[in-house]
Amino acid sequence: MALISIEGLRKRFGTNEVLKGVDLEIEAGEVIAIIGKSGSGKSTLLRCMNGLEAYQAGKITVENAPVTQDETDLRSLRLRVGMIFQQFNLFPHLSAGRNVMLAPMTVKGTKEADARAIAEKVLARVGLEQKFDAFPEQLSGGQQQRVAIARALAMEPRALLCDEITSALDPELVNEVLQVVKGLAQDGMTLAMVTHEMRFARDVCDRVVFMHLGQVHEIGPPGEVFANPRTPELQQFLGQVQ
Ligand code: ADP
Ligand code: MG
Repeated sequence: MALISIEGLRKRFGTNEVLKGVDLEIEAGEVIAIIGKSGSGKSTLLRCMNGLEAYQAGKITVENAPVTQDETDLRSLRLRVGMIFQQFNLFPHLSAGRNVMLAPMTVKGTKEADARAIAEKVLARVGLEQKFDAFPEQLSGGQQQRVAIARALAMEPRALLCDEITSALDPELVNEVLQVVKGLAQDGMTLAMVTHEMRFARDVCDRVVFMHLGQVHEIGPPGEVFANPRTPELQQFLGQVQ
């Protein structure tokens, strides 16, 4: 059974239909790269999966529970699916540790001492055990993004959705973040990752989804998708990014 199942998903903004019937199943432990041109609907797809956007037709389930705009559904969904964005969105007035402790305490009611222990554990997992008391402005962009990953991990999600999480970073900081994601992948985390890092997609991901004009245009293992693109659209896209 798929961890995340998407069937016939349609989403429009006003009259602009940006998802035109998306079907996608993501198995537990699977690592998916989502690639495609700007405007092809990648972010909207992730946002629908996390309940951040309502949709007009189709069905999304996470662990068999429907993703809807119903408050109860959304609350339980947010406990199970974490999302990380291009902008780190850390609270500037809180230390790294406090940023990580916040959601467990406010959303799950975790006691402060327990939240601190969780924060220490997940900060160590992203290689920042020394930075518990550092404030965001004292951290590099790569370190801030790793705190954002730790913050998502603190909720013990079943899946993580990553939307271009290295796109705002200076080139020399990209790798430290990708290494953390690779570690999560190796530990069995289910990941759906919108990315321009084609080498990462090739090396780490189980399947690559090529979005074009609001649809899954091609999908397959990276070896096939990159070596033998079947459609001119994917051939053209790969020609531009590689
Ligand atoms: P991608 O992430 O692949 O670049 P997006 O999912 O962000 O693409 O956007 C797909 C289309 O949806 C674009 O045409 C974009 O302008 C439109 N869109 C995205 N978000 C909104 C919004 N909040 N309101 C109106 N249009 C939007
Ligand atoms: Mg996007």
